[in-house]
Amino acid sequence: MANQQQPSTFRKIQAVTIGNDFEKVTEIVSVKYIDLVQQLKPHQVIVKVLYVGINASDVNYTNGKYTPNVKPPFDVGFEGLGQIVQVGSKVPKEKVASYGIFSQYGAFAEYLIISYKGITPIPNPKPEYIGLLTSGLTSSISLIEKGQMTSGETVLVTAAAGGTGQFAVQLAKLAGNHVIGTCSSDDKVEMLKRMGCDRVINYKKEDFKKVLKSEYPRGVDIVFESVGGQFFDICLGSLATKGRLIVIGMASTYSSSSGMQGNDLNTIKLLGKSRTVTGFFLPDYADQYGKHLHRLISLLAQRKLEVELDLVGQGDIKDVIKGVDRLQMGKNKGKVIVPLSSSSSSRL
Ligand code: NAP
Repeated sequence: MANQQQPSTFRKIQAVTIGNDFEKVTEIVSVKYIDLVQQLKPHQVIVKVLYVGINASDVNYTNGKYTPNVKPPFDVGFEGLGQIVQVGSKVPKEKVASYGIFSQYGAFAEYLIISYKGITPIPNPKPEYIGLLTSGLTSSISLIEKGQMTSGETVLVTAAAGGTGQFAVQLAKLAGNHVIGTCSSDDKVEMLKRMGCDRVINYKKEDFKKVLKSEYPRGVDIVFESVGGQFFDICLGSLATKGRLIVIGMASTYSSSSGMQGNDLNTIKLLGKSRTVTGFFLPDYADQYGKHLHRLISLLAQRKLEVELDLVGQGDIKDVIKGVDRLQMGKNKGKVIVPLSSSSSSRL
């Protein structure tokens, strides 16, 4: 069934204890390829993983936040891009050698079994496509469904130069809104300006709260909030009448040793101005992936959307640890991607 030589063993990353220090709680383990072949079901395929996407929540996953009763060891990683190397009996053989992107728990592996219908075909193995999955879909679906985004409003995006924020910025601009973005360095400011962000706030150099107060006294209509802590409070306080704050995440808290500190919602700030704070968790909108992913792929093809990549490593699964660390340190500019084979790395 396979059209090329497969290895006798391959590597994957497992969480061996629960915790948010990715390097400490994970191990790289070796698995026999034949074990995958024996588990392959008729509607599944085996994929050689060429690139994986790193997400802020990789450390929440190792910390057991997604699956509270999970017992280590368990496989980690959310998404990747790969080439089909073997198909189950109900999948057409012509699919072997084709490329696709996928979201699947346990993605940090050199080879993976995936349900064929869980793979979105792509014409070539460009790592930009991975950005459209967790990051692109989160921005696209939440801004429409929870932000009720149309045009002519003011949209504030925190962690705007990150893997997810970059899509919120571009999609809000494409829809015809005024967009404000926050970030922590001058090169991220440049990136966001290039993407059309109308006002970029480098919060290390400017006082975020003061800028909003003086330049946006009416408040902002939609907030795409990913940082948490003080950022959440400032964003909530800056909402316009009828404003909507989408709670996307709390990136500032995930790898802190004190753990995640929940924000107490200051309900009076909401009630007095009919403002809405709304939560968004991508897996709850799985029924909308197809429609939104199709649009994102089409925007990318038309060059109306770009995907800034932050590539880490030279094609070794060990580099996933460096990628997670880079993101948690807030150093990444764009979507963090790790090539898993030296051939994908050399294609870049
Ligand atoms: P990312 O934005 O690529 O990386 C995280 C960014 O957060 C950093 O680059 C950093 O950029 C910023 N940050 C970290 N600590 C900070 C702090 N203390 N203060 C201010 N900013 C800080 O990561 P991502 O994977 O795309 O995720 C971004 C957010 O989206 C996370 O909160 C994640 O949980 C959320 N998310 C949620 C869903 C969902 O379904 N709800 C899905 C995907 C992602 P700067 O400091 O330069 O701004």
